[in-house]
Amino acid sequence: MQAKQYVEQIQQYLEEKDPNQSEFLQAVEEFLPTIVPFLDEHPEYIEHNILGIIVEPERMIQFRVPWQDDKGNWQVNRGYRVQFNSAIGPYKGGLRFHPSVNMSILKFLGFEQIFKNSLTGLPIGGGKGGSDFDPKGKSDPEIMRFCQSFMTELSKHIGPNLDVPAGDIGVGGREIGYLFGQYKRLREYDAGVLTGKPLGFNGSLGRTEATGYGAVYFVKHLLEDKGDSFQDKKVLVSGSGNVAIYAIEKVQELGGTAVTCSDSNGYVYDKDGIDLDLLKDIKEVRRERLTEYVKERSNAEYFEGSVWDLETAADIALPCATQNEIDKAKAERLAANGVKVVAEGANMPSTMDAVKVYHENGVLYGPGKAANAGGVAVSALEMSQNSQRLSWTKEEVDGKLDDIMKNIYETCRDTAAKYSEKDNYAAGANIAGFAKVADAMIAQGLV
Ligand code: NDP
Repeated sequence: MQAKQYVEQIQQYLEEKDPNQSEFLQAVEEFLPTIVPFLDEHPEYIEHNILGIIVEPERMIQFRVPWQDDKGNWQVNRGYRVQFNSAIGPYKGGLRFHPSVNMSILKFLGFEQIFKNSLTGLPIGGGKGGSDFDPKGKSDPEIMRFCQSFMTELSKHIGPNLDVPAGDIGVGGREIGYLFGQYKRLREYDAGVLTGKPLGFNGSLGRTEATGYGAVYFVKHLLEDKGDSFQDKKVLVSGSGNVAIYAIEKVQELGGTAVTCSDSNGYVYDKDGIDLDLLKDIKEVRRERLTEYVKERSNAEYFEGSVWDLETAADIALPCATQNEIDKAKAERLAANGVKVVAEGANMPSTMDAVKVYHENGVLYGPGKAANAGGVAVSALEMSQNSQRLSWTKEEVDGKLDDIMKNIYETCRDTAAKYSEKDNYAAGANIAGFAKVADAMIAQGLV
């Protein structure tokens, strides 16, 4: 069978089987056509029906999470873990706590995680999990009780050689601490069961910063390759969580000016550059909304709505909030405003139409599965330190992260040049990530 026909058949099968899983179908549809040139050259993958198998998670777990709020009322949420692919290592991927979480979103995230983890060059498979629990507005004791209940069930399905969750939207150091404490209470002290742990108990220096820093390193290497740098570049950033904050920090360190950040209500435009100390204080310490930022920084402006509706000339865009935040019209606005590079700190923040606009307008595009792989890469470094009972310095971890991001960028660039159009880093990421996993699956008898 021809490769093109084969991938169309897989897509059609999934659309019939899971018509309501729009995010998962989108992630697969973005992936499949890009690997056609590679399949044309390697019909053995078609003979093994590797795509038909790889789009099915190895295991999906769903469970109830009952917990008590501060008023004494019993609440219940849904908990999930999707163990997608363990061909090259234990399942690895974050936990997301957000009201929008459902099986479709976790399958899209888990599917992308397979290829992202493969691209890091480290021995980690793909997984993702979470809950439709909304941490916003909850007290610390409520968060703790929820995490304890969630881990009571999840602990039966994870382990250092089986599945090693980490954070994602709504899950940071505080949540990982409570989850770890409950795992320890139920099983034993095992540092290797979660990553993103606080520094006081086997966390890795540099993990908090890794995803944001990594996305900026990806762009740094891309710019260097084109004889350019971050110096004096105007950068638009969305989000104001873990990824966005440290992307802004690294942009500033490298001489660029990050002028925006956002949350789900609105965005801040600070033309002098985001005041990082203030942003960290509001988001990490006080856990308040972005409206507070402009109260304390008179030159900055706050607008309701999407940051991608801002009309301003800029050089680089780093979407670091959530999936599908940039659609066709927003991508057209970025291109018209002079943006030359889009690198995704978030997972799948650009719709497929938006990506098409980037390609049509010569905007260089670093897809999430390559550009935000620094987080999971440093999580894998945390696993190594835990196994060796060692703690590397921040400089050591940061140096390794920079090397890994350079390697990912070069792999995407070179693979794109070999199999697809030059500079199509999404195709490069998909093909390179896929090849390693597919070979491992075949060598293991397609288990
Ligand atoms: P956080 O929870 O720390 O921050 C998320 C940010 O995105 C917040 O500012 C939040 O605003 C905003 N946001 C969330 N949902 C929406 C929405 N529906 N519309 C608009 N804004 C929204 O999460 P992270 O920074 O960890 O994650 C951000 C992205 O990066 C996600 O796509 C995640 O999957 C991806 N990622 C994260 C990694 C990590 O290591 N943490 C690793 C790789 C990728 P609000 O407070 O209003 O909800």
